Amino acid sequence: MGAKQPPKPHHPPTSHSPAYEVLLRAGPRLKPLQQVHAHLIVSGSGRSRALLTKLLTLACAAGSIGYTHRLFLSVSNPDSFLFNSLITVTSKFNFPLDSILYYRRMVSANISPCNYNFTAVIKSCADLSAFGIGRGIHNHVIVYGFGSDSYVQAALVTFYTRSYDLGVARKVFDIMPEKTLVAWNSMISGYEQNGFANEAIGLFYLMKNSHVEPDSTTFVSVLAACAQVGASGLGCWVHEYVLVKGFEVNVVLGTALINMYARCGNVIKAREVFDSMKEKNVFAWTAMISGYGVHGYGRQVVDLFHEMRTHGPKPNKITFVAVLSACAHAGLVDEGRLVLTSMEGEYGLVPGVEHHVCVVDMLGRAGLLNEAYRFIKENTLKQPAPAVWTAMLGACKMHKNFDLGVEVAEHLLSIDPENPGHYVMLSNIYALAGRMDRVEMVRNKMIGKYLRKQVGYSTIEVDHKTYMFSMGDKSHPETTEIFQYLDDLMCKCRETGYFPSHEFVMHEVEEEEREYALRYHSEKLAIAFGLLKTGHGEVIRIVKNLRMCEDCHSAIKYISVVSDREIIVRDKLRFHHFKDGSCSCMDYW
Ligand code: ZN
Ligand code: ZN
Repeated sequence: MGAKQPPKPHHPPTSHSPAYEVLLRAGPRLKPLQQVHAHLIVSGSGRSRALLTKLLTLACAAGSIGYTHRLFLSVSNPDSFLFNSLITVTSKFNFPLDSILYYRRMVSANISPCNYNFTAVIKSCADLSAFGIGRGIHNHVIVYGFGSDSYVQAALVTFYTRSYDLGVARKVFDIMPEKTLVAWNSMISGYEQNGFANEAIGLFYLMKNSHVEPDSTTFVSVLAACAQVGASGLGCWVHEYVLVKGFEVNVVLGTALINMYARCGNVIKAREVFDSMKEKNVFAWTAMISGYGVHGYGRQVVDLFHEMRTHGPKPNKITFVAVLSACAHAGLVDEGRLVLTSMEGEYGLVPGVEHHVCVVDMLGRAGLLNEAYRFIKENTLKQPAPAVWTAMLGACKMHKNFDLGVEVAEHLLSIDPENPGHYVMLSNIYALAGRMDRVEMVRNKMIGKYLRKQVGYSTIEVDHKTYMFSMGDKSHPETTEIFQYLDDLMCKCRETGYFPSHEFVMHEVEEEEREYALRYHSEKLAIAFGLLKTGHGEVIRIVKNLRMCEDCHSAIKYISVVSDREIIVRDKLRFHHFKDGSCSCMDYW
C-alpha cells in the first residue's frame, strides 16, 4: 500500500545496449536527442523499436509532442510496449489529449490495455475534465477485467471526485478490496473540496480505524474540512499527531493549520503556527492576515500586512481582499484607502470586483454613502457588478437611507434578476421605507419565479462529533430536552430585558418568516444543545453557513449573560465573540 503506480511492464531485452546508454545521457533535451537520432539512423539502428521507444519518451519529457508523434509514425506495427510508454509519458508530462488519442489507437489496433495504461489514461481524463470519455474508459476497465485492480480503482476514485460525481467515486472506493493511500486521500479531499466537510471527517475516522497511516496530503484535506465546520477538537488532534509522528510542517501543511486554527476561533494558536514556520509563502501570509480579519482584528491585519510588505513575499490579489475587508469591518477607512492605492501603484495589481466590494463596504459602513456611490459609478462602469451594489445596499440599510436604498435595490434587480437574495433585500428595504404595497408585489414576483432562498444551518462540535441543526430541527434524538431548555433560556433572557425583534422583514433565509420560527433559528438550537452538553466554563463554538439575523445576535448577547458562558459564533462573514452581554463586532457586522 502507498506506492503510487503499479509495476511497469517489462522492458525489451535490448535496453542496455551502448546506443541506449547514449540516449540516457542525452536526457530530456530536444537538440541532443535529435543528434542521437541522426546518429542512430546513420549507424543503422534507427529502426530499433526499443531505442525509438526510449527516444520518444524522452522527446515527450522534453516537451516536444510534435517530435514525439513523428517518431511514433516512423514505427511500423507499434506494439503494446510502445503504446504503454506513449500513454504513460504523455499523461505524465501534461499532454492529456494525446494520451487519450494514443489509448484509442491502441484499442483500435486490437492491443489489450493493461492496468498501467488505465491509470494513466484515467488521470488524463480527469486533467481534461473529459467526464464522458472517462466513464467510457471505466467500462473498458470492467470489460478487460481490471475492475478490482487497486491502482486502477484509485485512479477512478480521483477521476470521479474531480468530476463532482462523489456518489460513484464512493461506490468504487467502497468495493476496493485493498484501499491505497492515494484512494483514501482522493476520496477525503474530494469530499472536502466539494463542501462535504462532515463526510470528509467521517471518512478520516474510518481510515484511522482501518489502520492506514495518513500522510501530509491527508492532513491538509482533513484540516480544511475541520476549518469548514469549526471542528477544533479534531483539528488540534491532527496537529498533535503531526508533531508526535515527526511529520515535517512544510508550508502547505503549516498554512492548513493556520487556516484551521483561525477558522475554529483560536487566532493565537494560528499565530503560533505562523511564527514557527521556517518558510512562509504568500499563501501562509494571506491565511494569517485573513485569520485576523475574520475575527475583526483590523489593527493586527494592518500591522501584519505592513510587515509582509517589508519582509515578506509580494502580496497577491487575495491578500488585498483580506486586508481591505478587514479595514472595512474595523472601520479603518484611511488605512483602507492607502492599501487600495498601493495595490496598483506599488504592486501593479489591478483591483477587481472583489476589491471594489470591500471598498464600497468600507466607505458605506463608515457612513460615507455619497463617496461609496461615486466610487461605484467611477469604477464599475464596464461591468455590472451585483456584489458591489449589494454592499452599497447594505450600507443604505445600515444608515437608514431608504430612498437611496430603493434606488440601489431596483438597479440591482435589473442587472441580476435571477438571484433570490436580491428580492429579499428589495422587499426588506421597501418594508423599512414603509412601502408595504411594494413588499407584497416583490414577494409575489419572487414566488412567480420559483426562486428559493438558501436553507440556513448551524453546526457545533461536542466530544469530537459534529452536530448539525436547521431551523426548528426536530431530528435530534434529544429534541424535547433541547427545545425545553431553549424555551426556559429565552424566558430568562426576556426577564433580563431581551425583546424579540418583530420587524416585518424577510430574512436572507428560508427559516425565518414567522415569530415562531425566529425563536428556533438553527444557531439558537445549536447553542441550547451546546449548553446542555458541556460543562460550566467551556466556550460554546458555533458555525453558521449564512449571516446571523439581528434577533439571534441580540438574543445571544442575553444568553451569554444568563448562562454565564462565552459563546463564539462564526457566520458567513465573520466571528462574533459574545461575552457578558456584548459582542466583539460591536454590532458592526
Ligand atoms: Zn436568527
Ligand atoms: Zn456580533
